[in-house]
Amino acid sequence: MPSTNEIRAAFLDYFASHGHQIVPSSSLVPRNDPTLLFTNAGMVQFKNVFTGQETRPYSRATTAQKVVRAGGKHNDLDNVGYTARHHTFFEMMGNFSFGDYFKPLAIELAWNLVTKDFGLPKEKLLVTVFAEDEDAAALWKRIAGLSDDRIIRIPTSDNFWRMGDVGPCGPCSEIFYDHGPDVPGGPPGSPDEDGDRFVEIWNLVFMQFFEDPPGVRSPLPRPSIDTGLGLERFAAIMQGKRDNYDTDTFRVLIEASADVTSQAPDGPFKASHRIVADHLRSTAFLIADGVLPSKDGRGYVLRRIMRRAMRHLHMMGTTQPVFYKLLPALIQQMGAAYPELGQAQALIQETMRGEEERFKAMLGRGLSLLADETAQLPAGGSLPGDVAFKLYDTFGFPLDLTQDALRGSGHTVDVTGFEASMKEQRERARAAWTGSGDAAVETVWFEARDRFGATEFLGYSTEDAEAEV
Ligand code: ATP
Ligand code: MG
Ligand code: MG
Ligand code: MG
Repeated sequence: MPSTNEIRAAFLDYFASHGHQIVPSSSLVPRNDPTLLFTNAGMVQFKNVFTGQETRPYSRATTAQKVVRAGGKHNDLDNVGYTARHHTFFEMMGNFSFGDYFKPLAIELAWNLVTKDFGLPKEKLLVTVFAEDEDAAALWKRIAGLSDDRIIRIPTSDNFWRMGDVGPCGPCSEIFYDHGPDVPGGPPGSPDEDGDRFVEIWNLVFMQFFEDPPGVRSPLPRPSIDTGLGLERFAAIMQGKRDNYDTDTFRVLIEASADVTSQAPDGPFKASHRIVADHLRSTAFLIADGVLPSKDGRGYVLRRIMRRAMRHLHMMGTTQPVFYKLLPALIQQMGAAYPELGQAQALIQETMRGEEERFKAMLGRGLSLLADETAQLPAGGSLPGDVAFKLYDTFGFPLDLTQDALRGSGHTVDVTGFEASMKEQRERARAAWTGSGDAAVETVWFEARDRFGATEFLGYSTEDAEAEV
């Protein structure tokens, strides 16, 4: 049974042997795109290559890219712990053609890797194509020998990729693996597609058009390829598991979480252990790439992730900071592939410990307030906005943490009321301001306060530029 580390290496070697340059992962903080919260796909570091603004000494590349999807357009945070296949941090394996090969070779390379090198049975696989993409459907039939019922035509934008309102775009095709009828979920395109039975493992993008102005498309003279395969999903399949959290890497992290909390890995806190293991990875990798927990922007997304993990650790009965104690297990699993983890170990550890020390002091009291308030709510009721605001303002509970905490009991938060309390507090502060006598300074101060007040609880609400693979 191959380890996740072996699968990563085999993927890169395979594409290297087919003329692809192995390019290191880029940072989780996109260097060339201020509109993007975090690197959320393998193609992000190649954006300018695809548009032709930048050239590279190679026309084929392959990567294992660090990706975080915990904000903006791709936000999988609320899925974590509840599906078998979503993480906030994951590795996206990819192969790229910059005006070199196109659809036929892209399909052939992917199909051969999955069915020949990795030996997955053809009967377990099916693919989707964009409904109008006759080429792709015909190629799957010819190259993979798939029958028509295993080539599912999807008419929606799910299978049409675009970089932004203008720029390169084109149809997608995805490879799905069927975990079998024991797992709930329907095939892609069906009403219950959102289960864990049919899992999307690989997304191929055929960049064949250029759109500018919006709505006007012309064919690209040299079409390109961009693909993304979820390493953790693929490792689950290769290791005979139905669940990403049962793979080698995650088991080690979950065992470490079980150790520090003295709670059985698959007992009543199963979901908590998974959330902790997932959030440990995003936390450590984000800090290694220079993000620190803070009140706004990227740092606030990190803080929200960290505090969510800390709430789960607290619920499992820990009284002292323990999150940082899980770091060595992660470095043992992933440090060879990502040396930045080991290099930043001290910084990551101290940041994690400091954040948990500060939060722990308020967490217990905040949670008992929340429990008291929840006890008074009717079934399915919503927590008053002023209570959620008090948790936020006095106890450091990000709004989404409170929402997540209420999820188990089926309650929600009155978000409108929360926002009203936030606004009221800002107005009170404004009224209490005696003034510096300098109108210009005052304006700047209030503008800053409004801005940070807003970003502090919304995190990054601005839409990311579209950058799925
Ligand atoms: P899904 O429909 O399952 O949410 P996606 O279409 O959003 O996936 P893509 O943007 O196509 O995903 O990303 C390429 C690949 O990355 C997917 O085919 C999948 O294998 C993997 N992937 C996507 N999101 C996640 C996630 N949150 N955790 C783990 N792997 C993921
Ligand atoms: Mg998705
Ligand atoms: Mg999808
Ligand atoms: Mg996809």
